[in-house]
Amino acid sequence: MSDVTIERLCIIGTGLIGGSLALALREVRAVGEVVGCGRNPAHLETAKTLGVIDRFALEPAEAVQGADMVVLAVPLGAMHDTFAAIAPALAPDAVLTDVGSAKTSVVRAAQAVFGSLPSGFVPGHPIAGTEKSGVEAAFPELFRDHRVILTPVETSAPAARERVRAMWEACGAHVVEMTPEHHDEILAATSHLPHMLAYALVDTLARMDDSQEIFDFAAGGFRDFTRIASSDPQMWHDICLANHDALVKMLEAFSDDLRLLADAVRRADSRFLLDTFTRAKAARDAFCKK
Ligand code: NAP
Repeated sequence: MSDVTIERLCIIGTGLIGGSLALALREVRAVGEVVGCGRNPAHLETAKTLGVIDRFALEPAEAVQGADMVVLAVPLGAMHDTFAAIAPALAPDAVLTDVGSAKTSVVRAAQAVFGSLPSGFVPGHPIAGTEKSGVEAAFPELFRDHRVILTPVETSAPAARERVRAMWEACGAHVVEMTPEHHDEILAATSHLPHMLAYALVDTLARMDDSQEIFDFAAGGFRDFTRIASSDPQMWHDICLANHDALVKMLEAFSDDLRLLADAVRRADSRFLLDTFTRAKAARDAFCKK
């Protein structure tokens, strides 16, 4: 049972992340009414049937009416227009947060719309997800024992920070705070770069003449490594644009290292290869023990 009480939660973008948040909060009875919002009424009807939301509105301004907690769980490319749509209707004391996978772009979008940011605005990002999309893929345990990063801005009121923190803790998540810029650098390395590698690897192999045979013989390791290449292309398109600078830096650093590795393979440099693999194994083993 939870002591966070959100009277009316409005989730704009009732998909995997927004839907899972609603389910998790319902499970611990931390929320009264849940109002969904999206573009497609059929998706929202499904959300209602699955017990994710109580009702929905297709207009964001209507959906946020009277909500004490508003969560933007739309793709990054839709954040600006969503802020613009809710700005005139947001209750003055509402807490406003988001779940976007990049944070400086969300803060910039909010600044462009609001000018000076509302004190209830506390950006966030749950470090949990799957390669599936849509409300049918939502489940209440998604955030349990996962981290949520909050990236409060100067104007974020302490009470709003506490409300957003308590909301995620009610879902079983561990909440940490950092600046939006630091978030984007860390995530470029730990999440955005690996997704680029998975997409690039699968695409390279798929375009080879004998791709069918290659995939036929792919073992479990290939499946594990490339699972994230089944993620939603539009979402990853938006992340690349939103976290452009940090991601370009990581891609360039990785390309340099890959080139060094390719050179070592070319000249059969056992020392280089063994050193690289030994360092990487030790780093991964230590990381996976945590
Ligand atoms: P999703 O399952 O596709 O859900 C997105 C939702 O947004 C859908 O309900 C969709 O409903 C709605 N939507 C899409 N475009 C919209 C628009 N232009 N205006 C209003 N609503 C719109 O995606 P998701 O995986 O939950 O991702 C949502 C957010 O979470 C993204 O910002 C992503 O960066 C972030 N995130 C994702 C993950 C992950 O692993 N998936 C992890 C952490 C954070 P309609 O189709 O009905 O409009």
